[in-house]
Amino acid sequence: MKDYLDNISRLPFKRASNTLIIAGPCSAESQEQILSTARELKSIGVTVFRAGLWKPRTLPGTFEGVGTKGLEWLKLVKQETGMQVATEVATREHVAAALYAGIDVMWIGARTCTNPFAVQEIANALKGHDEITVLVKNPVNPDLDLWIGGMQRIVNAGVVMVGAILRGFSSYGNNYYRNVPEWQIAIELHRRYPHLPIFCDPSHMGGKRELIAPLSQQALDMGLDGLFIESHCNPDEALSDKDQQISPFELRDIVKSLIIRGKRQSTEILDMLRCQIDACDEDLLNTLSKRINVCRMIGAYKKEHGMQVVQTNRYDSILQKSLSQAESLGLSSEFIKNVFSAIHQESVRQQIEIMNATDMGSFTKG
Ligand code: PEP
Ligand code: MN
Repeated sequence: MKDYLDNISRLPFKRASNTLIIAGPCSAESQEQILSTARELKSIGVTVFRAGLWKPRTLPGTFEGVGTKGLEWLKLVKQETGMQVATEVATREHVAAALYAGIDVMWIGARTCTNPFAVQEIANALKGHDEITVLVKNPVNPDLDLWIGGMQRIVNAGVVMVGAILRGFSSYGNNYYRNVPEWQIAIELHRRYPHLPIFCDPSHMGGKRELIAPLSQQALDMGLDGLFIESHCNPDEALSDKDQQISPFELRDIVKSLIIRGKRQSTEILDMLRCQIDACDEDLLNTLSKRINVCRMIGAYKKEHGMQVVQTNRYDSILQKSLSQAESLGLSSEFIKNVFSAIHQESVRQQIEIMNATDMGSFTKG
């Protein structure tokens, strides 16, 4: 089946270093703030400048952006520094105004990406604009198809320069990350669309200045294509997201500290180690299959003797035994808990299937 995302082409970003960095303030606040931030960012080698004009704030009554008048400031940035300029769009009016002002890059924010009507409205307003680059942030909920669908809507409108931004996902009560990274979602996106550029936004992910460096390093180590970072000439006075904004000079130091590891896929030693991993995986699968067969036999036995499926004390003792064994093997107890909880859930599911089966012979099915 044809996939719209097969049509995307390379992003037109100039780069001044190995790492492509899009940076700028969370919000445009004044002409002075925009120009001085842009000049400093230009001086440290940033080639794409971001600033939000229409801000999707969680709570009403907070700073909601300067709106259309900020477009004039972005035009000045473009003229004076030669940087490409980027802003967030959430409605057809935003797109029309940004197109008119000659904005190079538009991004769709996490909240907007959750709403297919809004993304379609943006796509319609962009119809045929193959000179524009559109970056789509992940939706606030960890729904990969919704994210992909958003990008497909944009590409289907004739925009060919499209990329994704991983900014992390909302969760209730998690306060280490502002938005949990869920790197595996970006890895799966890359697996499905190896040619799609993926950026990381460590600012909204971490929500704190001190997490920008480690998250950026992790993103590069995961093979992501660039960074999307909030930077303000005077972060402590920022009108939005001040806890996660850094000055252009702090950004320069972070960029300097990043280690760019080679993209080489393999070496002889790596191949040898990967063979060992493949053998371990095969053992794991065989063991799991054996375990499930035994589980189904136990299910059949319980059914015959009128015993209930879930026996918590048995699960508790398996878990305790495995945890103490895990400790002596140097395995993380959190990890082992997760693995055993997944195994236990599957065992219960299998046994319930046996309980509900009319044909008792089916327990060896595996
Ligand atoms: C932003 O980048 O300024 C922004 C509002 O981000 P997000 O959509 O990721 O919350
Ligand atoms: Mn922000």
